[in-house]
Amino acid sequence: MGELIKDGLRIDGRKPDELRPIKIEAGVLYRADGSAYVEWGGNKVLAAVYGPRELLPKHMQDPTKAVVNARYNMASFSVEDRKRPGPDRRSIEISKVTSEALESVIFTELFPRAVIDINIEILDAEAGTRCAGITAAAVALADAGIPMRDIPAACAAGKVDGQVVLDLRKEEDQEGEADLPIAIAPRTEEILLLQMDGHLTYKEFEEALELAIKGSKYVSKLQKEALRRKYKKVEEE
Ligand code: ADP
Repeated sequence: MGELIKDGLRIDGRKPDELRPIKIEAGVLYRADGSAYVEWGGNKVLAAVYGPRELLPKHMQDPTKAVVNARYNMASFSVEDRKRPGPDRRSIEISKVTSEALESVIFTELFPRAVIDINIEILDAEAGTRCAGITAAAVALADAGIPMRDIPAACAAGKVDGQVVLDLRKEEDQEGEADLPIAIAPRTEEILLLQMDGHLTYKEFEEALELAIKGSKYVSKLQKEALRRKYKKVEEE
Protein backbone atom coordinates (compact mmCIF):
# COMPACT_ATOMS: atom_id res chain seq x y z
CA MET A 1 0.00 0.00 0.00
CA GLY A 2 1.02 3.57 -0.55
CA GLU A 3 2.89 3.04 -3.81
CA LEU A 4 0.09 3.62 -6.31
CA ILE A 5 -1.16 7.05 -5.28
CA LYS A 6 1.17 9.93 -4.39
CA ASP A 7 0.04 13.47 -3.59
CA GLY A 8 -3.43 12.58 -4.86
CA LEU A 9 -2.19 11.44 -8.27
CA ARG A 10 -1.86 7.96 -9.72
CA ILE A 11 1.30 6.41 -11.25
CA ASP A 12 0.43 7.76 -14.70
CA GLY A 13 -0.42 11.21 -13.31
CA ARG A 14 -4.18 10.74 -13.47
CA LYS A 15 -6.59 12.08 -10.88
CA PRO A 16 -8.72 9.41 -9.13
CA ASP A 17 -11.74 10.10 -11.36
CA GLU A 18 -9.82 10.40 -14.64
CA LEU A 19 -9.95 7.92 -17.55
CA ARG A 20 -6.96 6.82 -19.59
CA PRO A 21 -6.85 8.38 -23.09
CA ILE A 22 -9.44 6.71 -25.34
CA LYS A 23 -9.68 6.72 -29.16
CA ILE A 24 -12.52 5.06 -31.06
CA GLU A 25 -12.82 4.54 -34.81
CA ALA A 26 -15.87 3.02 -36.50
CA GLY A 27 -15.85 1.06 -39.76
CA VAL A 28 -12.18 0.10 -39.98
CA LEU A 29 -12.61 -3.25 -41.78
CA TYR A 30 -13.78 -3.52 -45.38
CA ARG A 31 -15.23 -7.04 -45.39
CA ALA A 32 -16.96 -7.21 -42.01
CA ASP A 33 -20.58 -6.00 -41.87
CA GLY A 34 -19.52 -3.65 -39.08
CA SER A 35 -16.30 -2.95 -37.22
CA ALA A 36 -14.55 -0.72 -34.74
CA TYR A 37 -11.09 -0.11 -33.35
CA VAL A 38 -10.51 1.12 -29.81
CA GLU A 39 -7.34 2.34 -28.13
CA TRP A 40 -7.87 2.69 -24.40
CA GLY A 41 -4.72 3.43 -22.46
CA GLY A 42 -2.40 0.57 -23.38
CA ASN A 43 -5.24 -1.58 -24.76
CA LYS A 44 -5.74 -2.04 -28.49
CA VAL A 45 -8.95 -3.79 -29.47
CA LEU A 46 -10.54 -4.65 -32.80
CA ALA A 47 -14.20 -5.70 -33.07
CA ALA A 48 -15.85 -7.16 -36.17
CA VAL A 49 -19.52 -8.00 -36.64
CA TYR A 50 -20.89 -10.50 -39.15
CA GLY A 51 -24.60 -10.96 -39.70
CA PRO A 52 -27.41 -11.31 -39.06
CA ARG A 53 -27.11 -14.42 -41.25
CA GLU A 54 -28.62 -17.91 -41.15
CA LEU A 55 -27.29 -19.91 -38.21
CA LEU A 56 -25.87 -23.27 -39.22
CA PRO A 57 -26.16 -26.10 -38.30
CA LYS A 58 -29.92 -25.65 -38.28
CA HIS A 59 -30.48 -27.37 -34.92
CA MET A 60 -28.64 -24.46 -33.26
CA GLN A 61 -31.23 -21.99 -34.55
CA ASP A 62 -33.80 -20.28 -32.34
CA PRO A 63 -37.08 -19.93 -34.29
CA THR A 64 -38.06 -16.90 -32.18
CA LYS A 65 -34.89 -14.77 -32.29
CA ALA A 66 -31.31 -14.32 -33.42
CA VAL A 67 -28.48 -15.87 -31.42
CA VAL A 68 -25.83 -13.35 -30.35
CA ASN A 69 -22.43 -14.92 -30.33
CA ALA A 70 -19.56 -12.75 -29.06
CA ARG A 71 -16.08 -14.24 -29.04
CA TYR A 72 -13.40 -12.50 -26.96
CA ASN A 73 -9.90 -13.50 -27.98
CA MET A 74 -6.52 -12.34 -26.72
CA ALA A 75 -3.77 -12.40 -29.34
CA SER A 76 -0.76 -14.37 -28.14
CA PHE A 77 1.37 -11.22 -28.48
CA SER A 78 -1.07 -9.06 -26.48
CA VAL A 79 0.51 -9.76 -23.10
CA GLU A 80 4.09 -9.76 -21.82
CA ASP A 81 4.61 -13.53 -21.71
CA ARG A 82 3.24 -14.99 -24.94
CA LYS A 83 -0.30 -16.17 -24.28
CA ARG A 84 -1.15 -19.70 -25.35
CA PRO A 85 -3.47 -19.22 -28.35
CA GLY A 86 -7.09 -20.30 -28.23
CA PRO A 87 -9.92 -20.11 -25.71
CA ASP A 88 -9.21 -20.52 -22.00
CA ARG A 89 -11.53 -20.30 -18.99
CA ARG A 90 -11.14 -16.53 -18.74
CA SER A 91 -11.88 -15.77 -22.39
CA ILE A 92 -14.85 -18.17 -22.42
CA GLU A 93 -16.27 -16.34 -19.40
CA ILE A 94 -15.70 -12.90 -20.93
CA SER A 95 -17.25 -14.07 -24.23
CA LYS A 96 -20.34 -15.25 -22.33
CA VAL A 97 -20.91 -12.09 -20.28
CA THR A 98 -20.21 -9.93 -23.35
CA SER A 99 -22.73 -11.88 -25.46
CA GLU A 100 -25.36 -11.48 -22.74
CA ALA A 101 -24.72 -7.76 -22.26
CA LEU A 102 -24.98 -7.04 -25.99
CA GLU A 103 -27.90 -9.38 -26.65
CA SER A 104 -30.01 -7.49 -24.13
CA VAL A 105 -30.05 -4.35 -26.32
CA ILE A 106 -30.35 -5.98 -29.77
CA PHE A 107 -33.82 -6.45 -31.30
CA THR A 108 -33.04 -10.15 -31.77
CA GLU A 109 -36.73 -10.99 -32.33
CA LEU A 110 -36.46 -9.31 -35.75
CA PHE A 111 -34.09 -12.03 -36.96
CA PRO A 112 -35.40 -15.51 -36.13
CA ARG A 113 -33.06 -18.43 -36.99
CA ALA A 114 -30.16 -16.02 -37.51
CA VAL A 115 -26.83 -15.53 -35.81
CA ILE A 116 -25.00 -12.29 -35.13
CA ASP A 117 -21.29 -13.01 -34.72
CA ILE A 118 -19.13 -10.51 -32.87
CA ASN A 119 -15.39 -11.06 -32.88
CA ILE A 120 -13.38 -9.14 -30.30
CA GLU A 121 -9.64 -9.33 -30.78
CA ILE A 122 -7.41 -8.00 -28.02
CA LEU A 123 -4.23 -6.96 -29.81
CA ASP A 124 -2.61 -5.30 -26.80
CA ALA A 125 -3.77 -5.85 -23.21
CA GLU A 126 -3.18 -3.52 -20.31
CA ALA A 127 -6.15 -4.13 -17.94
CA GLY A 128 -9.75 -3.27 -18.67
CA THR A 129 -9.91 -5.29 -21.87
CA ARG A 130 -13.45 -6.60 -21.27
CA CYS A 131 -14.73 -3.01 -21.04
CA ALA A 132 -12.74 -1.93 -24.09
CA GLY A 133 -14.02 -5.04 -25.92
CA ILE A 134 -17.70 -4.37 -25.15
CA THR A 135 -17.22 -0.71 -26.08
CA ALA A 136 -15.68 -1.66 -29.45
CA ALA A 137 -18.28 -4.38 -30.10
CA ALA A 138 -21.15 -1.96 -29.47
CA VAL A 139 -19.77 0.50 -32.05
CA ALA A 140 -19.23 -2.36 -34.51
CA LEU A 141 -22.86 -3.48 -34.05
CA ALA A 142 -24.11 0.06 -34.71
CA ASP A 143 -21.76 0.29 -37.71
CA ALA A 144 -23.28 -2.96 -39.04
CA GLY A 145 -26.73 -1.35 -38.81
CA ILE A 146 -28.01 -3.92 -36.31
CA PRO A 147 -31.18 -2.49 -34.70
CA MET A 148 -30.55 -1.82 -31.00
CA ARG A 149 -32.45 -0.22 -28.15
CA ASP A 150 -29.27 1.53 -27.07
CA ILE A 151 -25.51 1.47 -27.67
CA PRO A 152 -23.83 -0.16 -24.66
CA ALA A 153 -20.77 1.47 -23.12
CA ALA A 154 -18.44 0.04 -20.51
CA CYS A 155 -15.92 1.20 -17.94
CA ALA A 156 -14.39 -0.05 -14.71
CA ALA A 157 -13.80 1.59 -11.37
CA GLY A 158 -11.93 0.11 -8.43
CA LYS A 159 -9.91 0.76 -5.35
CA VAL A 160 -6.19 1.35 -5.01
CA ASP A 161 -4.27 2.50 -1.95
CA GLY A 162 -7.54 2.77 -0.05
CA GLN A 163 -9.06 5.14 -2.58
CA VAL A 164 -11.87 4.60 -5.09
CA VAL A 165 -10.58 5.33 -8.61
CA LEU A 166 -11.81 5.20 -12.20
CA ASP A 167 -10.42 2.92 -14.94
CA LEU A 168 -7.57 0.87 -13.45
CA ARG A 169 -4.36 0.39 -15.42
CA LYS A 170 -2.38 -2.83 -15.15
CA GLU A 171 -0.37 -2.11 -11.98
CA GLU A 172 -3.49 -0.83 -10.25
CA ASP A 173 -5.45 -3.92 -11.32
CA GLN A 174 -2.70 -6.23 -10.07
CA GLU A 175 -1.84 -4.50 -6.82
CA GLY A 176 -5.12 -2.73 -6.06
CA GLU A 177 -7.83 -3.80 -3.67
CA ALA A 178 -10.77 -4.06 -6.08
CA ASP A 179 -11.81 -3.89 -9.73
CA LEU A 180 -15.43 -3.34 -10.73
CA PRO A 181 -16.07 -3.46 -14.49
CA ILE A 182 -19.57 -2.53 -15.65
CA ALA A 183 -21.44 -2.04 -18.91
CA ILE A 184 -24.49 0.18 -19.18
CA ALA A 185 -27.19 1.11 -21.64
CA PRO A 186 -26.72 4.88 -21.31
CA ARG A 187 -30.14 5.94 -22.61
CA THR A 188 -32.23 3.56 -20.49
CA GLU A 189 -29.71 3.69 -17.62
CA GLU A 190 -29.75 -0.10 -17.27
CA ILE A 191 -26.73 -1.99 -15.99
CA LEU A 192 -25.94 -4.75 -18.49
CA LEU A 193 -22.86 -6.17 -16.79
CA LEU A 194 -21.38 -5.85 -13.34
CA GLN A 195 -18.49 -7.91 -12.04
CA MET A 196 -16.18 -7.43 -9.12
CA ASP A 197 -12.79 -8.68 -8.02
CA GLY A 198 -11.51 -7.90 -4.54
CA HIS A 199 -13.43 -6.30 -1.72
CA LEU A 200 -15.11 -2.98 -0.98
CA THR A 201 -17.30 -1.68 1.81
CA TYR A 202 -20.88 -1.05 0.77
CA LYS A 203 -20.20 2.70 0.76
CA GLU A 204 -17.09 2.27 -1.42
CA PHE A 205 -19.06 -0.02 -3.72
CA GLU A 206 -21.69 2.67 -4.22
CA GLU A 207 -18.99 5.25 -4.84
CA ALA A 208 -17.18 2.97 -7.33
CA LEU A 209 -20.41 2.13 -9.15
CA GLU A 210 -21.30 5.79 -9.49
CA LEU A 211 -17.82 6.55 -10.82
CA ALA A 212 -17.95 3.63 -13.30
CA ILE A 213 -21.35 4.85 -14.56
CA LYS A 214 -19.92 8.35 -15.03
CA GLY A 215 -16.96 6.86 -16.94
CA SER A 216 -19.28 4.73 -19.10
CA LYS A 217 -21.35 7.79 -19.99
CA TYR A 218 -18.22 9.59 -21.16
CA VAL A 219 -17.24 6.51 -23.20
CA SER A 220 -20.74 6.58 -24.71
CA LYS A 221 -20.12 10.12 -25.91
CA LEU A 222 -16.90 9.01 -27.63
CA GLN A 223 -18.72 6.07 -29.27
CA LYS A 224 -21.37 8.37 -30.75
CA GLU A 225 -18.71 10.81 -31.99
CA ALA A 226 -16.90 7.93 -33.71
CA LEU A 227 -20.12 6.80 -35.43
CA ARG A 228 -20.92 10.36 -36.52
CA ARG A 229 -17.41 10.74 -37.99
CA LYS A 230 -17.85 7.49 -39.92
CA TYR A 231 -21.19 8.57 -41.44
CA LYS A 232 -19.85 12.00 -42.27
CA LYS A 233 -16.98 10.35 -44.13
CA VAL A 234 -19.38 8.04 -46.04
CA GLU A 235 -21.52 11.05 -46.99
CA GLU A 236 -18.48 12.92 -48.32
CA GLU A 237 -17.34 10.00 -50.48
P1 ADP B 1 -9.67 -7.15 -17.95
O1 ADP B 1 -8.69 -7.10 -19.08
O2 ADP B 1 -11.08 -7.04 -18.42
O3 ADP B 1 -9.35 -6.16 -16.85
P2 ADP B 1 -8.69 -9.19 -16.13
O4 ADP B 1 -8.94 -8.41 -14.89
O5 ADP B 1 -8.95 -10.67 -16.12
O6 ADP B 1 -9.59 -8.61 -17.34
O7 ADP B 1 -7.21 -9.00 -16.61
C1 ADP B 1 -6.49 -7.84 -16.36
C2 ADP B 1 -5.26 -7.78 -17.22
O8 ADP B 1 -4.38 -8.86 -16.90
C3 ADP B 1 -5.50 -7.92 -18.71
O9 ADP B 1 -5.97 -6.76 -19.32
C4 ADP B 1 -4.12 -8.29 -19.16
O10 ADP B 1 -3.29 -7.14 -19.22
C5 ADP B 1 -3.63 -9.21 -18.05
N1 ADP B 1 -3.87 -10.62 -18.41
C6 ADP B 1 -5.03 -11.27 -18.49
N2 ADP B 1 -4.89 -12.54 -18.90
C7 ADP B 1 -3.57 -12.73 -19.08
C8 ADP B 1 -2.75 -13.82 -19.50
N3 ADP B 1 -3.25 -15.02 -19.83
N4 ADP B 1 -1.41 -13.62 -19.55
C9 ADP B 1 -0.88 -12.43 -19.22
N5 ADP B 1 -1.59 -11.36 -18.84
C10 ADP B 1 -2.92 -11.49 -18.77
